[in-house]
Amino acid sequence: MKIVRIRTEADEIAYGVAEAEGIALYRGTPFVAWEPTETVIPFDEVHLLAPVFPTKVVGVGRNYVEHAEELGNKLPDDPVIFLKPATAVIGPGAPIVLPSDSSEVHHEAELAVVVGKVSHRVAAEDAASHILGYTAGNDVTARDLQKKDGQWTRAKGFDSFCPLGPAIETELDPAGLRISCEVNGELRQEGSTYDMVFGVAELFAFVSRVMTLLPGDVILTGTPAGVGPIRAGDRVEVIIERIGTLANPVVAGS
Ligand code: ZN
Repeated sequence: MKIVRIRTEADEIAYGVAEAEGIALYRGTPFVAWEPTETVIPFDEVHLLAPVFPTKVVGVGRNYVEHAEELGNKLPDDPVIFLKPATAVIGPGAPIVLPSDSSEVHHEAELAVVVGKVSHRVAAEDAASHILGYTAGNDVTARDLQKKDGQWTRAKGFDSFCPLGPAIETELDPAGLRISCEVNGELRQEGSTYDMVFGVAELFAFVSRVMTLLPGDVILTGTPAGVGPIRAGDRVEVIIERIGTLANPVVAGS
């Protein structure tokens, strides 16, 4: 199923499931007290939000060979992980705001893993049972600040730097999905999740060894080659096979 989080015309926030006729509303959340209602809301009466509100977003650097090479980096022996704050998360259609602190903000199309249960030191072979599903993510990065600072908190932590959505696909094998990024309809990034250096299960085990993952937390699994700048007025789309298209406009901030 494709799980979405929506704001209704009555200004209520709820989870639902995308069906042919519209969004079937659910009670509770996909993590607790998850129960269908009779209500189906037509697509044009809902506003899609980020499909989860995580307590943390864990990013993984240099997880596709060609992308590591394009930034002049060697492949790591272990996953290189970093955090993006929950306040960076925005939903489909919400603007990516370019801070005036940076003159080089890049798109990074990524497969996003959504954690389904409390996960502490989960073995790779048990990872699948701890994952709710997968969505698309954009690990927006101020490349100039990333190089200048030497660590990545500022470069990857600005508000709006983590678009997620449009839906969480729960029945999906994460291996071998085509992932791409288009800016104003022009193809910028293209790859296959086959080309990840560390696969989803391995990443899940590695991260959950360090920090307990909570329901709704997100692991961004790295980006394929082709990262590049976005500018005010652009429209960025992250497209992942069987998940859908995450589209966001880009605006200038202060
Ligand atoms: Zn990234």
